[in-house]
Amino acid sequence: MQNLILAAVDECHCIYSWEDFRPVFGHIGKLRFLLANIPFALFSATLMPHVASYVATVCNLSHSTILFSLSIRRDNIKLAVIPIDDIGDTRQLFKLLNLSRKRIPKSLIFMDNVHAASTLALQMKAKLAMANGKPEGVRERIFSDTVIGGYWSEIDDRRKKKVMENFKKGITRIVVGTDAISLGLNVDDVDVTIQWGVTENLTLDILWQRMGRGGRGKDRQSYGLIFVKRKLLEPAPGGWEAAFKLVGPQPAPTSEDLDRLQLKTVPVCKGRDLAKFTLPVTPETMTQVNTHLDGLYREVADIKKTFKLAEKERTGTNQQPVSAVQKIDPFSCWFCNSDGCLHQVIKVAFREPGNLFANTSEGWDCDRCARAMNLDPKTPLPCGLTLGDTMAYQLKYPVPGQSELSKVAQSVRPDKMNASRTKELKEFLIKWRKEKLDERHYPLMILPCIILPDFVISRIVKDITHIVTLKQLRRSLKAADFDVTSSLLTATDLLELLKKIEEHLHSTEKGNTQKGIILF
Ligand SMILES: [Zn+2]
Repeated sequence: MQNLILAAVDECHCIYSWEDFRPVFGHIGKLRFLLANIPFALFSATLMPHVASYVATVCNLSHSTILFSLSIRRDNIKLAVIPIDDIGDTRQLFKLLNLSRKRIPKSLIFMDNVHAASTLALQMKAKLAMANGKPEGVRERIFSDTVIGGYWSEIDDRRKKKVMENFKKGITRIVVGTDAISLGLNVDDVDVTIQWGVTENLTLDILWQRMGRGGRGKDRQSYGLIFVKRKLLEPAPGGWEAAFKLVGPQPAPTSEDLDRLQLKTVPVCKGRDLAKFTLPVTPETMTQVNTHLDGLYREVADIKKTFKLAEKERTGTNQQPVSAVQKIDPFSCWFCNSDGCLHQVIKVAFREPGNLFANTSEGWDCDRCARAMNLDPKTPLPCGLTLGDTMAYQLKYPVPGQSELSKVAQSVRPDKMNASRTKELKEFLIKWRKEKLDERHYPLMILPCIILPDFVISRIVKDITHIVTLKQLRRSLKAADFDVTSSLLTATDLLELLKKIEEHLHSTEKGNTQKGIILF
């Protein structure tokens, strides 16, 4: 003990972000009393001001603590936000598996919980085994188990070590997992990092930690792809200009003003003005940016109670429900929705010490910049995606699928369904369900009922004369007590199902019909 010269805590942001997961981290400050005369040092690559404030309080750091900040910028990571209809709609991810093993980019796929990550890893392995022969074949299973690795805290150390060794050597091409990956990873040639879904557990510092696992080698370029449910994007009409119109000229913030932000730690969720989250970070919008930063958090008297307060802030009531977009971390919400460069939001959030607008990246560095540069939407991204699939381009170009469906504007419905047409429709729906299962290559233990149970099929058949719009289809599913969100049926699947029903009814059309109109 007498030889101890320093107590160091690495990845100290985990004291904040893992508060629930590792409550024992909350007691780290007691060490300060045991090691009263030993200097404490805390390190993190991603320490946001309010996290620094929390960590300093929990660790009982003294007032003489010095904060050294280095640049957060990583210009070699091309960022893209990609809208998806549902977390279960993994088709875009599965495109990674259409490549030969050597051509699959070295990829890390992050999810926010172990169950979701293990399910995704299983699905991907089954799909890959299928692509190489039979999903149940021993040779195919060993192959897919090697190419795709899973990594989360519950996996034993020997297995974790093996996954990382194989990933380093390039035998394993994709690792699916949770934050545990970041702690065990020392690989400098990761080509792509993927965040699959944004939940309320994802804070911007966690996201930036994950994206930062890519392109760590010298002169290496990498991609950071963030897949976000469409309903969390474009949160409110009107845009940021209208939302900030009352903000008059204001003096530039002093360092004291910015220090004050450290005391504001509870994110303001209820009553959040969502239009403000499209605000771009540019030299012209800095007044609004500082106003916005100031409004994201609420002051608290007791910093150690922030988690409980934050949780309370996110909980709605039956009368006043809190929408999904209001629950997510305010900085993650801003990052996903900003009309301007995504790197700039990161730099502002972390209080980048250097010149915020010094541009050192070559070419485009995020989908917003690519759009501003008018790059071709066909410009390829990893996973078989293109710039046209990103949020910035989706705003400009129509969403595929919906426009196609709206062409079926004059739908026909029989007045009555006779026995033979009812039987045909039922068989058709069962066939469609099987196609869906085959197409996704779900693991063998997944039963058809998780896509569309028999009782739901019966309900659709019963209600068919009233199902013309997507809303009506959803109503029938609800009437059958079928919870779409906990099934593997995605929003895209529902659109497709409606379209297929249309086509089927057209092809079997006999006798009297009535017209319906598709409304969205
Ligand atoms: Zn950019």
